[in-house]
Amino acid sequence: MAESKHFIHEIIDEELKEGGRCYGKTVHTRFPPEPNGYLHIGHAKALEIDFGTAELYNGLCNLRMDDTNPTKEDEEFVDAIKEDIRWLGHDWGDRFFYASDYFDQMYGFAVELIKKGLAYVCELTPEQMKEMRGDTSTPAQSPYRDRPIEESLELFEKMKNGEIEDGKMTLRAKIDLASGNFNMRDPVIYRMNRLPHHRTGNKWCIYPMYDFAHPIEDALEGITHSLCSLEFENHRPLYDWVVNNISVECKPRQIEFARLGITRTVLSKRKLRNLIESGYVTGWDDPRMPTLCGLRRRGYTPEAIREFHRQNGVSKVNSVVEYAFLEYCLREDLNKRANRAMAVLHPVKLIIDNYPDDKTEVFTVENNPEDESAGTREVSFSKNLWIDAEDFMEVPEKKYFRLFPGNEVRLKSAYVIKCTGCDKDENGNVIAVHAEYDTESRGGNTADGRRIKATIHWVDQNTAVDAEIRLYDQLFTIDEPDLADVNYLDYINKDSLITIKDAKVEASLKSAGSDDRYQFLRVGYFCADNKDSSPEHLVFNRAVSLKDSYKPGSN
Ligand code: ATP
Ligand code: MG
Repeated sequence: MAESKHFIHEIIDEELKEGGRCYGKTVHTRFPPEPNGYLHIGHAKALEIDFGTAELYNGLCNLRMDDTNPTKEDEEFVDAIKEDIRWLGHDWGDRFFYASDYFDQMYGFAVELIKKGLAYVCELTPEQMKEMRGDTSTPAQSPYRDRPIEESLELFEKMKNGEIEDGKMTLRAKIDLASGNFNMRDPVIYRMNRLPHHRTGNKWCIYPMYDFAHPIEDALEGITHSLCSLEFENHRPLYDWVVNNISVECKPRQIEFARLGITRTVLSKRKLRNLIESGYVTGWDDPRMPTLCGLRRRGYTPEAIREFHRQNGVSKVNSVVEYAFLEYCLREDLNKRANRAMAVLHPVKLIIDNYPDDKTEVFTVENNPEDESAGTREVSFSKNLWIDAEDFMEVPEKKYFRLFPGNEVRLKSAYVIKCTGCDKDENGNVIAVHAEYDTESRGGNTADGRRIKATIHWVDQNTAVDAEIRLYDQLFTIDEPDLADVNYLDYINKDSLITIKDAKVEASLKSAGSDDRYQFLRVGYFCADNKDSSPEHLVFNRAVSLKDSYKPGSN
């Protein structure tokens, strides 16, 4: 990896030195998604850090489904999460785990804590508990805190067997009610829940809380570095308390980094789900969603997403990155790799009156001027073409250099033509543009060297294919819809999708696969929609426009 070392790697470097915590050890990280939704671009940052760190140190990275809450989790998400991670290019080898595989051990560790006098069964209601744990004031002690160990053991077993009503009892760690850190004030570590779990079914009526389960999962898997986002910083003392008070050999270290935020984007799964359920988007993979499946469908490449994260770096300070920077990364990638093609979004006829009626020519054009190895393709040309309506003005504006009566332009890779006029319908709409071609300009250059200011794209009417084109804009009209005190649904961009039903594209695009990316000349970068496009009905998504006013560091 090219990026310079960030603070996590500096810490690891120290720990690997002789005498350090990890001297002689293999660096071992994990990525622990909760299978309750699809991965988004924020998760891709965590993936880059987890898998990237393992890669940098020739270590290992586990993929672990953090499925300790039966209420929201589902197998559908497990498969989708794997697919997205693979797509990004991260490889977990055979190190795929489920947190739910450790339920027996977790139960055992809970019993161990009870036996050590470090956990107790509490019968306070959630309201009572909340009040007694306090906020900044001195908390009050639960009347159950000092119940005999034997009694807690018995009740915990009853909880496990479902002999206790849901919500009536919890298991709490006995730590420090006076702690300035709320998480250390006898946190709940097990609660009851009778819903069936997606893997363990009805075996368990009790489920461990994240703060108890996560350090155990890490320790059991031999994780050396548990890298997570900043909101877990206050939970680290509890993480350490758990690994230090149960009988595990491995004592993993938690290190936190800043979450990624992106302008005009929400990244919480709850909000993303709400966008779907409220009908603002069509699903998790709607091309406007910041999910990895949405970005993929939109036309993003794994390379662009990973480069975006590498460039952003890793720090301890939360920040919101410009969406334009993500677009910049995609353009940078696609400019090098996407084949060029011609597509006319708002077609109007162009008739070359001095071109023979029955003649057809084939031009060989390069697929990518940035990459010779991308080869060439053949594009047909005839008297009747499609051009974009915007490329003609009967009465030109100032500084308009494209087609208007009397003006010359270059048809990309073909000929120089001179506009002679247009036909209009009874309402005055232009229905055809007329021109004559310069027979000496095959390939696009004039024989006498006269300068042609504008080059326009076109497709041949004989071979053109119909296509539906979807142009996307951002979902929100304000920069930070994700802020806690903002009702993001009040700022939905109503024009985030514009559908053009009757575009004309060059014939070579008939075979476009959804993994192929194209630069439609002068229009933007596109890919075939992976759900709706077929050879009979082509649908192209615009991944990003060509406009390139954004430069990193310019804002
Ligand atoms: P949400 O809060 O939206 O439900 P989550 O963070 O709870 O998302 P998880 O499945 O638990 O979702 O996330 C897996 C990992 O991805 C966690 O370690 C989390 O810290 C990290 N992660 C999630 N969102 C971001 C983000 N925006 N930036 C960086 N890392 C993130
Ligand atoms: Mg989470």
